Amino acid sequence: MKKHFWSNWSGSVQCTPESVVLPRSVEEVSEIVRAAARDGKTVRVAGSGHSFTDLVKTNQVIVSLDHLGGMVEVDTRTREATVMAGKKLYNLNDTLERYGLHMENLGDINRQSIGGAIGTGTHGTGLAFGNLSSQAIGLTLVTASGDVVECSEEQNREIFKAAQVSMGALGIIVEVRLRLVPVYRLAYVRKKGDFHETLQKGEAFAQANRHFEFYLFPYTDTVQLKFLNETTEPLMRHAFRKWFSDTLLENTAFGIISRRCRKKPERCPAMARFLARQITDTQEIDVGHRVLSTKRNVRFNEMEYAVPIADGPKAIQDIKNWIEREGIAVHFPIEYRYVKGDDIPLSPCYGRDSVCISVHMFQGMPYERYFEGCERIFRRYDGRPHWGKMHNLTAKELADLYPEWHNFQQVRMDLDPNGVFLNPYLRSLFCG
Ligand SMILES: Cc1cc2nc3c(=O)[nH]c(=O)nc-3n(C[C@H](O)[C@H](O)[C@H](O)COP(=O)(O)OP(=O)(O)OC[C@H]3O[C@@H](n4cnc5c(N)ncnc54)[C@H](O)[C@@H]3O)c2cc1C
Repeated sequence: MKKHFWSNWSGSVQCTPESVVLPRSVEEVSEIVRAAARDGKTVRVAGSGHSFTDLVKTNQVIVSLDHLGGMVEVDTRTREATVMAGKKLYNLNDTLERYGLHMENLGDINRQSIGGAIGTGTHGTGLAFGNLSSQAIGLTLVTASGDVVECSEEQNREIFKAAQVSMGALGIIVEVRLRLVPVYRLAYVRKKGDFHETLQKGEAFAQANRHFEFYLFPYTDTVQLKFLNETTEPLMRHAFRKWFSDTLLENTAFGIISRRCRKKPERCPAMARFLARQITDTQEIDVGHRVLSTKRNVRFNEMEYAVPIADGPKAIQDIKNWIEREGIAVHFPIEYRYVKGDDIPLSPCYGRDSVCISVHMFQGMPYERYFEGCERIFRRYDGRPHWGKMHNLTAKELADLYPEWHNFQQVRMDLDPNGVFLNPYLRSLFCG
């Protein structure tokens, strides 16, 4: 039998499924799931493959919704839109802009599909905003029986809440209804700052700015601060400056430096210090999604945990101290973002305003010791892992972190009693 090849963005997950199918209608999705269930096969749905964990990995059936990415309906009066779940965020944002609409917040890239972004609770930064799943107000799922189920706050609420972050374990989301806001412009300011001062003022910055985040450069006390606020000022686009900082510095030059670090890891501290010295103050004004989303051409692996907002400063300080004490070979900056708490059972921000701290390692460099050390620190602060990023928690540990864990599992077992959507990775997460 001909085998297909599937890999995620970072190359850390690879598999050879017996089929990768690209349905062109919801009916086809139902038929694929029904046939797989009948034959006792596992079905995993893939978005853009931008997760770092084995969520999509299977040697059986992968369903890609790349041909189901259309816009179903836009209502400019209620500011809602229904889109097919395979739609990529870059395409979605361009389309919404034409209708004068916008998602209230976005993560720092736009290559994901909306179904995949929702699947893992993808988020941006901004204390007034929950993750992207919290922007979904209605979902249409193809469940393990092949049935099409609609759910929202008003209809099948239990399924809806569980499905808002469900990693493709409840079924294949085929349509997403989104709550939107009028299109907005953001004034984006980037500047260099001091780590200790930022730790003290961080929460105040997050409260005073629509979006605030910072990056800590290892082996330094330097951070890059990012402030984004709504404005009605005219667009300020500096094509050359943007290309210089976003393409040349953050991608091309960073790629060269990263390859040098991979060759000689002992260079990492010096390279991190060098990178910190290159931070320059920049400013631009553009439509929200054009500044919220950035280019990420340098490939890496990543771990991220959400910790209660009050514990964020202690957690990142502990990570900084540990890296320096142990001499960990890492040059990638550590990202620190703010996300509003929500009521989604498997959202890492369930019930608490959170700080999401992300640690990265260049593709091809060993990440295990670094990530395990950071994970020990995150766990000290009741951290919950990002579902799309690397972690080592067991089903029991996860159950202890999520008050509604068992309700989620009940909904999952009701919808998929035979585990059609469970691959070995999800089985280990959910069933132990
Ligand atoms: C360079 C880079 C930058 C990133 N930036 C951020 C960021 O700023 N914020 C953040 O939170 N995360 C970020 N991530 C992580 C990323 O947003 C998530 O891993 C996201 O889930 C990837 O979306 P995807 O479309 O690639 O989905 P995939 O990785 O393909 O799938 C993710 C999960 O969703 C499920 N899924 C996909 N489509 C559907 C569907 N239609 N129905 C049901 N389930 C589905 C899959 O089965 C899988 O379990 C980043 C990742 C990378 C590589």
